[in-house]
Amino acid sequence: MKDTIAALVELQHIDDEIRVYQLQRNELAQNLDRLKAIVSQMAAEMEEKRVKLEEATGFYKDKQGELQADGERIAKAKTKLASVTRTKEYAAMQRELDNLRKKYAADESELIRLAEAMQEYEGSIATEEAKLGELRAEVDREEAASGDQLRELDERIASISKKKESAEGKLDRNLLTRYGRLLERRDGKAVVPVGPKGRCTGCQRLLPPQQYIQVQRGEKLLSCPNCQRYLYYAGPEEVDVAAEA
Ligand SMILES: [Zn+2]
Repeated sequence: MKDTIAALVELQHIDDEIRVYQLQRNELAQNLDRLKAIVSQMAAEMEEKRVKLEEATGFYKDKQGELQADGERIAKAKTKLASVTRTKEYAAMQRELDNLRKKYAADESELIRLAEAMQEYEGSIATEEAKLGELRAEVDREEAASGDQLRELDERIASISKKKESAEGKLDRNLLTRYGRLLERRDGKAVVPVGPKGRCTGCQRLLPPQQYIQVQRGEKLLSCPNCQRYLYYAGPEEVDVAAEA
């Protein structure tokens, strides 16, 4: 039974090691995902702005065409006015020409304002595009660096997994299944040392005195009655040291 307990403790230490690397791995992957999400959101916003600018450009061109047509109308009206001889008709045409000129002037200044606004908008798009470019380059660099780190972590996890296989070989299938379930349900800790006064270091409850004595003897595999984790005795002063061994 002592061998079984020792193998369980070994297995727990191996899983602790794997867990540390896996957490690092997840953190790296998550950071990268976050950066990528920021970039794609920015890219979507840029696309939206570009569409708006295109719409504004179309509107501007239409208005420009209208203005040009009005200009031609004014020119025609002027020519016509020169050939009018009757006073009444002349006055009416003069009024019409005035109205056309007023409209032309108003439309022209509106177009100028629109052109200015579009130019400003275009400038801000260009600035943001430059920022997006920088961010994309940063993500690429980060991805390359993370890729190296991820490969390194994967290699480490793979080599530890080999050690794990040999530790698992010392335990029977049922015990391994229970161990695996505990590991999953008990936050990665299936095997814990008993602390001073017989405290389960997994759930911090005190064991019944008789059970504490049995754990110290190490002749029987025992579980904490509260959290079901497997218990072992690591010596009177060695609880913390043993956890890191
Ligand atoms: Zn417990």
